[in-house]
Amino acid sequence: MTRIAIIGGGISGLTAAFTLEEQRRAGEIEYSLYESSPRLGGVLRTENVDGCLVEAGPDSFITEKPCAADLCRRLGLGDQLIGSIDADRKTYIFVRGRLIPMPDGLMFMVPTKILPTGFSPLFSWTTKLRMAKELLHPPRAGEGDESVASLVERHYGAEMVDRLADPLLSGVYGGEAASLSVRAVLPRFAEMERTYGSLGRAMLAAREKNPRPANKPAAPLFTSLKNGMQQLVETLVPRLNQASLITNSPVQSIQPRTGGWSVSAGLRSDHFNAVIVALPALAAAKLLSTCSPELSAELAAIGYSSSITVGLGYDRSVREALPPGFGFLVPRSEGKRLLAATFVHNKFPHRAPDDRALLRCFFAGSNAENIWQLSDDAMVAIVRNELQEILGVRAAPLFARVYKWKFAMAQYGVGHLERLARIELLRQQLPALTLAGNGYRGIGVPDCIRSGADAAKQVLTR
Ligand SMILES: Cc1cc2nc3c(=O)[nH]c(=O)nc-3n(C[C@H](O)[C@H](O)[C@H](O)COP(=O)(O)OP(=O)(O)OC[C@H]3O[C@@H](n4cnc5c(N)ncnc54)[C@H](O)[C@@H]3O)c2cc1C
Repeated sequence: MTRIAIIGGGISGLTAAFTLEEQRRAGEIEYSLYESSPRLGGVLRTENVDGCLVEAGPDSFITEKPCAADLCRRLGLGDQLIGSIDADRKTYIFVRGRLIPMPDGLMFMVPTKILPTGFSPLFSWTTKLRMAKELLHPPRAGEGDESVASLVERHYGAEMVDRLADPLLSGVYGGEAASLSVRAVLPRFAEMERTYGSLGRAMLAAREKNPRPANKPAAPLFTSLKNGMQQLVETLVPRLNQASLITNSPVQSIQPRTGGWSVSAGLRSDHFNAVIVALPALAAAKLLSTCSPELSAELAAIGYSSSITVGLGYDRSVREALPPGFGFLVPRSEGKRLLAATFVHNKFPHRAPDDRALLRCFFAGSNAENIWQLSDDAMVAIVRNELQEILGVRAAPLFARVYKWKFAMAQYGVGHLERLARIELLRQQLPALTLAGNGYRGIGVPDCIRSGADAAKQVLTR
């Protein structure tokens, strides 16, 4: 009987287990999933507070990447999938003391409609002129990696980095455009530049090539679950073999042994034929430090940033006073601590009763580290102060919840793809070991689901 260890009970590890489950039932394999904490799901966690669904970690997944919705459907959750209310989609950027809506037609930060961008107060005339000139941008000759900031600045100037690229990436990666790799984070942009030169022309060409059929409504940008992201975990876990799930068991080390691996958690050591390490790369580095210092060093070099989300519930008066739309982003140059806030009640149905406003505020990177040691009350006070400055909200929240995630968001630095190639070579020198999680080829929930499923299939193929 082949025995497989899965280390990590977040969505990556749980998906790996789910992928192995059929073979386990057929009596072909056994697996054990080790999770250090008492609960499964990792950063997927939803609380129901005063009738509001408060997401501690991810609030949704991007619809364009199908793995998460596919998994939900396989679990019988197809009728529980909900889309973002895109008719009300509007995101503001906080610039010089006021909220300015992102102009219509921006694809990430590439303008595809002249008038809304031309009249938007979000950009200076210098940047608008750069946007026009960008249409003549020549293709880039070099193949090498660079930061997102460097690519964006070359096309549109520094203001575009500060006001759009950086805030948009902070909201997803908790990281800075100046350090994130274009080839790993925005590979499509690198490709568009290589082929067309101008990103604007490339976007328009792509749209012309694949026009949306007139009778087909656009898919919502984001998808979530009626009862929150934890619904995925709560549906998936009962489908696994309960005796295989070992919680409260941090794995301290894994060591290659004849025919496989020895996995040590607490006082217990067990032998397995294969191991799936489904942890953030930083945690994986620690486990592998003695058996492969080189692999461990490469994994440890994948940066991670910490983040804090604060969920706040308000009454009807605040809901009515808030501007329409999904929320706002704050460029670092504005000197605030908050990086973003979502008006959750506007973004998704089923999140808050009609007489409640639900806000989700986000800190990441150095903004999160700088307040990490503060009490929850002190953090809520900071959030309230900034919401007052940004939105004019003075009312006391009906409830507040603070969630801290230490080193949970991977930062794909310049050269990330080359690092992954080195990691793959080093991994192959070890017996039956696979890696899954957000440190490698995408940090979003769908990417992690794909990585967990792929890792399990790799083990089964062996
Ligand atoms: C605040 C926040 C907001 C996010 N928002 C979104 C979003 O809206 N949409 C989206 O698509 N993605 C979002 N993401 C990213 C996405 O949620 C994560 O990348 C993904 O869920 C990570 O899943 P994972 O299983 O790889 O890792 P984790 O969820 O981190 O799970 C790893 C598990 O391993 C356990 N563990 C650690 N060390 C050990 C050990 N030694 N032994 C045993 N167990 C161990 C941990 O306790 C944890 O349960 C967000 C992330 C965060 C932090």
